[in-house]
Amino acid sequence: MAKPVIAIVGRPNVGKSTIFNRIVGERISIVEDVAGVTRDRIYSQGEWLGKEFSIIDTGGIDLGDEPFLEQIKQQAEIAMDEADVIIFIASGREGVTSADENVAKILYRTKKPVLLAVNKVDNPEMRSDVFDFYALGLGEPYPISGSHGLGLGDLLDAAIAHFPDETEEEYDDQTIKFSLIGRPNVGKSSLVNAIIGEERVIVSDIAGTTRDAIDTAFEADGQEFVMIDTAGIRKRGKVYESTEKYSVLRAMRAIERSDVVLMVLNAEEGIREQDKKVAGYAHEAGKGIIIVVNKWDAIEKNDKTMKKFEEDIRDNFQYLSYAPIIYVSAKTKQRLHTLPEVIEKVSQSQNLRIQSAVLNDVIMDAVAMNPTPTDKGKRLKIYYATQVAVKPPTFVIFVNEPEMMHFSYQRFLENRIRDAFTFEGTPIRILTRQRK
Ligand code: GDP
Ligand code: GDP
Repeated sequence: MAKPVIAIVGRPNVGKSTIFNRIVGERISIVEDVAGVTRDRIYSQGEWLGKEFSIIDTGGIDLGDEPFLEQIKQQAEIAMDEADVIIFIASGREGVTSADENVAKILYRTKKPVLLAVNKVDNPEMRSDVFDFYALGLGEPYPISGSHGLGLGDLLDAAIAHFPDETEEEYDDQTIKFSLIGRPNVGKSSLVNAIIGEERVIVSDIAGTTRDAIDTAFEADGQEFVMIDTAGIRKRGKVYESTEKYSVLRAMRAIERSDVVLMVLNAEEGIREQDKKVAGYAHEAGKGIIIVVNKWDAIEKNDKTMKKFEEDIRDNFQYLSYAPIIYVSAKTKQRLHTLPEVIEKVSQSQNLRIQSAVLNDVIMDAVAMNPTPTDKGKRLKIYYATQVAVKPPTFVIFVNEPEMMHFSYQRFLENRIRDAFTFEGTPIRILTRQRK
């Protein structure tokens, strides 16, 4: 199910990213250093009172050389387009500014709920300062302090109260949802069209949710698929649409809804920084991943070309070593017919459950082959492992001292698990817990 979306807007320096980080909390990042995904955080996941949501910091959407007022105007428009609930943040230290008034004026146009939060209210004596903010005409201001974590609970209570009613699952569990992600011009739209041309489309252009994604359902060999098209959605005339950060945001939103992500590269151009960022996000979100090299028709090839490409990709996406790579052409349709099968296989890996007995045999064999690390005369002891989740497959290993599980040893265990079972195309997670 698509999660409700909260967007944060406001002029620079009021504390948007501080509050975003508070709400998102600490998330373990495996690929941070490699992909730089979590460093510019514009989109993440949060939870309050058991309700999960996505959250966008529009302040992180860099709109290039636009003048300041134009930037915050566009950020507010993105919030109005993308969010279910908008949190408008101002600063109690500076009081109401003309930039705040500008943002408020834009937000009047939306029918979506807007909550006004006055940040930097660091102590109770300052609470009376917030009354000035009634003048913005957005109802009761919520006094908060991002740096001290005050007032956020009331604000989030109000935000979740405005979430749309729980919607039905969009598609049934058996349907595999996938999206094509990649930079402009790699050929996403062409692939979408070619796939639709190739497969028996049963329902097309379901104008999906309020988020106007275009979903196309089709069936191949008895398996139902839904293709989530990001390339096809064009909000004509919107200035921000062509900016890189916005396209990254859109990609992240599509990834969130997908079971399997097709990371599309252009054979003519190779890999770029933006590819890594989006792929890193898909990896951290635990999605199935397939690397699709498109425009394979357009390059000069000899018997080493594919190998050279593969090396290059493996080098640049080391954490995606599990992702299958396929070389296709939307133009000539080369190998396109293999796509549904590969997607299905990756989806099966995502849902694979390993019996504990079998899993523990594999772990114990691994330990016998390569003994656990020691530290100051003490040795890491592994007692027991069990799979606790699918999508992505997640394992808990119970040990004597969790901090002795080094990254390299965990990587070794992951590789042994991968050798023993077919987790092709899916990240797997290993958590270490102390056995009480
Ligand atoms: P953004 O530009 O709106 O994302 O603002 P930032 O989150 O980067 O914060 C701007 C500055 O305000 C930083 O120096 C923060 O440390 C500071 N700040 C954020 N929240 C609070 C708060 O609740 N109280 C005080 N006193 N300072 C804050
Ligand atoms: P998108 O921006 O990722 O959706 O890319 P498009 O599907 O719009 O394609 C961008 C350009 O690449 C268009 O001119 C396409 O005709 C071309 N293109 C797409 N796929 C292929 C392919 O497999 N081979 C060749 N030679 N050109 C392609």
